[in-house]
Amino acid sequence: MRIHLKALGCRLNEAELDTWSRDFAAAGHCMTADAAEADLVVINTCAVTEEAVRKSRQLVRRAHRANPTAKLVMSGCYASLDPDQAAAELGVDLVVPNQDKDRLVSIASRTLDLPTMPAMAAEPGEQALLAKTRQRAFIKVQDGCRYRCTYCIVTLARGDERSRPIDDIVAEINQLYANGIQEVVLTGVHLGGYGSDSSSHLTALVRAVLDDTDIPRLRLGSLEPWDLPEGLWDLFDNPRFMPHLHLPMQSGADTVLRRMARRCKSDEFAAMLTRAKTRVPDLNVTTDIIVGFPGETDDEWTQTLDFVECMEFGHLHIFAYSPRAGTKAATLANPVARDIKRHRSDALHALGARLKKDTLTRFVGREFEVLVEGRPETDTAGHTVWSGYTPNFLRVAIASETPLENRLVRVRCDALHTDGERLSASLVD
Ligand code: SF4
Repeated sequence: MRIHLKALGCRLNEAELDTWSRDFAAAGHCMTADAAEADLVVINTCAVTEEAVRKSRQLVRRAHRANPTAKLVMSGCYASLDPDQAAAELGVDLVVPNQDKDRLVSIASRTLDLPTMPAMAAEPGEQALLAKTRQRAFIKVQDGCRYRCTYCIVTLARGDERSRPIDDIVAEINQLYANGIQEVVLTGVHLGGYGSDSSSHLTALVRAVLDDTDIPRLRLGSLEPWDLPEGLWDLFDNPRFMPHLHLPMQSGADTVLRRMARRCKSDEFAAMLTRAKTRVPDLNVTTDIIVGFPGETDDEWTQTLDFVECMEFGHLHIFAYSPRAGTKAATLANPVARDIKRHRSDALHALGARLKKDTLTRFVGREFEVLVEGRPETDTAGHTVWSGYTPNFLRVAIASETPLENRLVRVRCDALHTDGERLSASLVD
C-alpha cells in the first residue's frame, strides 16, 4: 500500500513520522509524498493552542476531501483529547491515542486489515528490529537467493546469489567507524549464502571484520535457520560479536513449512536452539511468523503457538499472510478467512508480548554494556531517560542527567520497565 504521513506541531510529532515510515516500510508498504495517491493517510495532530486544534481538524478534513477513498488514521495530542468525538466528527477510520503511538503501525495493520506481508522476505528482520541510527549502520554484503520459498517474491526478483568481496566490506566498515558508527549489521537477501559465488563463507567474513576493523559491535541480520554457517557458535567467543540471531521460522507446523517450501523442520530447529543456548548462554533468538498461510488448519495453528512458546523467542515479527501475484503460494487453495487470521494474529501478539517479558525478566540483576542511541525522553517524574540495547538485543531505559548519546556504558538491569517492553537499568561506575 502507499502511505502518506503528515505531522503538525512539535518536533517530536515530526520525529514520530520517521519511526512510522520505517515500520510501514518493514511491513512491505511504500511512502508517498502525495496525499492524493495514497491508500492510507496518517495525520499526527497537535493541540497546543486553539489554532493548532483548528489546523489539525482542517488538515484531516482536507485529506479526506483530496482523497475520499484513502483510509484515514489520526494520532497525536488533538486526537488523544477526545478520541471518540474526533473519530465521529471527522469520519476517520482509526484514532490511535498518544499512549499507543509506538504501536501505531501494528494497530493500524490489524484494525484496518492492511496486507502486512513484506515485499522482501529477508528484510523485516533487520529493518524492523533494529533501526538505522547515528550509531548503527547496515552493510549489505550479499544479494539474490537460490531457494524458492513459495510465498517469496524476492527469489524471482533478485536473481542469482552475488556476494561482495571481503576487502570491500572491511574497507566500508573502517570508513564508517572513522565517521563515528559504533555498530554494524551485516545483511543480505540470503545472508547464509554469503560467499557461495566466491568460495568464501559467512564465518570467514565475520572473522575478517573482527580482525581487520575496530568496530566495537558487529551483528548479523536475518539468517535462514537451515543455513547457519559452520563455525558460527565459536564466533560468539569474541565479545564484539553480538549474541542475538534473527532466525525467521515462519510457522511451527511442519505441514505448513512444507507448503511454504521451507527447509527447516520444527524439531531440527528446536535441537539446534538447545545446542546453541548451551554453547552461547545469553543468546537471544527472535523470529518471523506468517499467520494464515493458505490451508492453515486449527491444528496447524495450535502447533505454531506451541512451538513459539517452547522456543521462548525474545521477540516476534508477525505477518498476516497476503498473496503476492507471481508466487506459487498465491495459487494455493483454501485461503484462510480474514477474521480467523485476525484472531490468530491477536493470540500470537499476546503470546509474543508475554515471551518478551519473560526474556527480559530473565536478565534482571545482570550487568551489560549498552550502546546508547537516540534522543532521550523525559519520564513522568521529570527524569531524563536514555535508550539502548544490550549485546543480546534487550532494550534498556537508563535514567541519567549526564548526556550519554553514542556512548558505550556499563549498566545493571534493575527491573522490568512498567511498559513491559524493556528493562530499567542504572549506570555502573
Ligand atoms: S530463503 Fe526463501 S524467503 Fe528467504 S529470500 Fe530465499 S526464497 Fe525468499
